[in-house]
Amino acid sequence: MVVYRKNGINPLLISIVTNKDLSEIPPSPPESMLPGVYAKQVCKNLGSMRKALPERKHKLTCVACGRNGQYNLGLMAFDLAKYLSFSKGNDKSDQSAWASSIQFSGYFRCHYCNSGCWQLPNQTKTMLQIAVMGHALALKAKIKKEEEIVVGRFTTFDGESFFWATEVEEHFLHKLSKEPDNAWIWDRLGNIYIKGGRLDLAVVAFEESIKQDPCQMESHYSLGKILLEAGAKDAATLHLRRVLLTARDYDHLTPLAMRDLLTDALFMLFDILSDLNKLVEFIPKGNEFSNESPESCHDQKPVTVHFMDIDISVDEFEGMYPLAELYMGKHQKKLAPDVQTLYPTQSNTNKLMKEIKKKSSKKKRKRKK
Ligand SMILES: [Zn+2]
Repeated sequence: MVVYRKNGINPLLISIVTNKDLSEIPPSPPESMLPGVYAKQVCKNLGSMRKALPERKHKLTCVACGRNGQYNLGLMAFDLAKYLSFSKGNDKSDQSAWASSIQFSGYFRCHYCNSGCWQLPNQTKTMLQIAVMGHALALKAKIKKEEEIVVGRFTTFDGESFFWATEVEEHFLHKLSKEPDNAWIWDRLGNIYIKGGRLDLAVVAFEESIKQDPCQMESHYSLGKILLEAGAKDAATLHLRRVLLTARDYDHLTPLAMRDLLTDALFMLFDILSDLNKLVEFIPKGNEFSNESPESCHDQKPVTVHFMDIDISVDEFEGMYPLAELYMGKHQKKLAPDVQTLYPTQSNTNKLMKEIKKKSSKKKRKRKK
């Protein structure tokens, strides 16, 4: 009997996370089989959560069962260079050249057989071609368009490039089946699910990531962000706090990206606590970074986060930078001097958090996305 599933799940994902043989997992597993603590809560709230990808529904034909269905392709990347190299000397309307130069971020599986391989019907190819032409004309005329199309190519961290998000997922799951303890790949897989609009699968990957490495800062951040949107404030708070605790030992981000991520985490905590004093009381202090602390991740020498006489503001994103920089450890010194907001001369180790000055303003807070 064919079971219709709106949101398909790859049985291999469940197999790797649960360490069960693939033969023990149904070919089209239900949501209730998703492992981990958070997936069920996110599934329940998925409908009310902010859409992670633009709506671009089109008809696709499943290669495995031949059935047609409407699927949200999400963000489309158009590789102009590849298109031009393919179509050189050929008819520029050649649809095979055209179709090989596009990619989609949306993650979806066949509603009927759970496969992830697709053919683009000619009608869909034509509609997509028109969409790209419209986007190109708008760019030329400098008219702002919705961000549904990007000119360029989606590539993975290891330099691979795929047509469908399900292919990227297979690529990562294949790697993870050989090294299931690689938190970095779990984190990358989680990001693919976010970009594919599947926050329920993303939390599974991020949870697995921090199970393998409790110091995977980016996974804590992503979990905090998704759980906050899903209304799970307590769980979100836990992970956002761990972003602050794990930053100093995390080596996968540029200093600027790390500061932005910490700042965003601080603002999310501020939104939850609704008060700057409560935020300052809540965020980790020096003794929590010591070896003895269960919250500490790595067995390194004890460190201290000093609360100095610093100015922070919640009116704009950059206003929280000094507080974010306090948690960067060695990475803070790698920020170019002209972008640093925290200077050694400001240091005063004995001052307490109450000395953090607040700049009040009636201006609406402007924050980065
Ligand atoms: Zn199918």
